[in-house]
Amino acid sequence: MWTHGWRDRVWSDLDRPWDLIVIGGGITGAGILREAARAGLRALLVEQHDFASGTSSRSSKLVHGGLRYLKQGEIRLTFESVRERERLLREGRGLVSSLGFLMPTYAGDRPPAWVFGLGLMVYDILAMKFNHRRYDALDMRDLCPGLAETGLQGGYRYFDALTDDARLVLRVLREAVAGGAVALNYARVVGLLRDRSGQVRGVALQDVAAAGRSRTAEAQAAAVINATGAWADEVRAHADRRRPAQRLRPLRGSHLILPAGRVPLRRAVTFQHPSDRRPVFALPWEGVTLFGTTDVDHGRKVETDPGITSPEVDYLLAGLAYAFPLLKLGPDDVLATLSGVRPVVDTGKADPSKESREHVLWRDAGMVTVTGGKLTTFRLMAHEALLGIRARLPGRPRFDAGRSMLDPIPEAAPAAAGLDPATRLRLAGRYGADMPALLEAARPGELGRVGDSVTVWAELRWAARAEGVVHLDDLLLRRVRLGLLLPRGGQDYLNDIRAIAQPELGWDDARWQQEAAAYVRLWRASYSLPEENA
Ligand SMILES: Cc1cc2nc3c(=O)[nH]c(=O)nc-3n(C[C@H](O)[C@H](O)[C@H](O)COP(=O)(O)OP(=O)(O)OC[C@H]3O[C@@H](n4cnc5c(N)ncnc54)[C@H](O)[C@@H]3O)c2cc1C
Repeated sequence: MWTHGWRDRVWSDLDRPWDLIVIGGGITGAGILREAARAGLRALLVEQHDFASGTSSRSSKLVHGGLRYLKQGEIRLTFESVRERERLLREGRGLVSSLGFLMPTYAGDRPPAWVFGLGLMVYDILAMKFNHRRYDALDMRDLCPGLAETGLQGGYRYFDALTDDARLVLRVLREAVAGGAVALNYARVVGLLRDRSGQVRGVALQDVAAAGRSRTAEAQAAAVINATGAWADEVRAHADRRRPAQRLRPLRGSHLILPAGRVPLRRAVTFQHPSDRRPVFALPWEGVTLFGTTDVDHGRKVETDPGITSPEVDYLLAGLAYAFPLLKLGPDDVLATLSGVRPVVDTGKADPSKESREHVLWRDAGMVTVTGGKLTTFRLMAHEALLGIRARLPGRPRFDAGRSMLDPIPEAAPAAAGLDPATRLRLAGRYGADMPALLEAARPGELGRVGDSVTVWAELRWAARAEGVVHLDDLLLRRVRLGLLLPRGGQDYLNDIRAIAQPELGWDDARWQQEAAAYVRLWRASYSLPEENA
């Protein structure tokens, strides 16, 4: 699957008849493809950039009910989300794991601490899992050294879950492809095909893998689903040029990534930002600390690699200084930044954070658009979208909402010397059925970690060989997350990475140098601090 030459093979086969075309290779599109394959449909997914390169690799990595949504009265969204969290925790061993959250409370908090306690009780009731508890100030200091102590009254602990968002997309996509579906990256939809009655029955595609050399193709299908997240309005505009297409309000959210040594956390910490009382999170993730987010109008055309702005950096650093004053964190502590654009339906609220995060289904000339929502609720979104298009599909297939989204992970894998049980489980969760092949492909020494990260070298070999990498940033930012975990995006390791990846990718020296230079430029522009904060 996705080995050398696979994209050419898919391109040459695009003109066969499809039952379903899914536009967008984020978590929503991946979920739809998975369920379509399971129902026996001939299904094709096309993605304009890399798989998961949109919002789905830029989330806060939480599989969560969202306490904030509860506070805003979005009970249905919270209920659905906690149920999905529990399901993903069961199905996604090694990829989705439970994470304790501490919520410190201070004298003069608005709302007062007991309101949070009440909220957590409702949160637990929705999940039918009673595990939040209250701590006094002494306990909180022990549980989270470095926390601001003035006025600290105590706090709460509750549980949500954490994942690697890009790997979740990849796992779902690869299981869909193993089940008979086809997924193609760097294939942009540049137009929609219509039948005589004006209904959307296919897509016009452009290959955007390489600048300059560009092939085109048309693919016909009984039904088309638009799962392009924050880009959904752009694709809808192809369906109906008369209608003012803007129904989304793209909201940017940015994170700072800091070395775990500077913000040592065993659990996540959440608190209200001092400037606007929005909840923010500091999370231990993949050996670093992720802190976010902001929530601001993006205010420009949605691009694949949005970057953090200076006011966002200042906002986030002010939040860290408020919660962890003794750590004296500043721009020099920032390893990397990560920004994404939320697909949020525009209802014209003055405060972006008050806009609902529920998902929506829209129809334009027979095409269904599914957007909004959350990473956590992707399975529900997939089912709703498929039910929305079912009448157009041959044989009106049944979609079984009760089945697992993820396949079971391999329990029997080749014994790999030196691989500790935690790493083994981590690899099984991230690579699913491919984990035994990944271990077999590993050369001596490649089960060791890359620098201080949790990534092992063998992941690079496997991803370069078999995971559809087209550009170096696909490999370093999404197949593995080294671009977010290592200082300077891992530039100091590029020679070692090259020794493994270049032969697997079949690139000559000139191509490697070009890709490495492009990666460094991209990392500086979109994953580091803006110049004035650096
Ligand atoms: C800062 C931030 C933090 C978040 N944190 C969380 C969290 O912790 N937990 C949670 O549950 N949710 C979270 N979310 C929300 C979640 O990330 C998104 O709801 C989800 O990733 C959206 O997935 P998607 O597949 O709909 O969109 P995307 O992942 O954006 O996928 C859409 C894809 O469509 C492609 N596309 C666009 N136009 C075309 C075209 N013309 N042709 C082909 N392809 C096209 C894009 O390239 C893109 O890859 C967060 C979002 C943000 C921004």
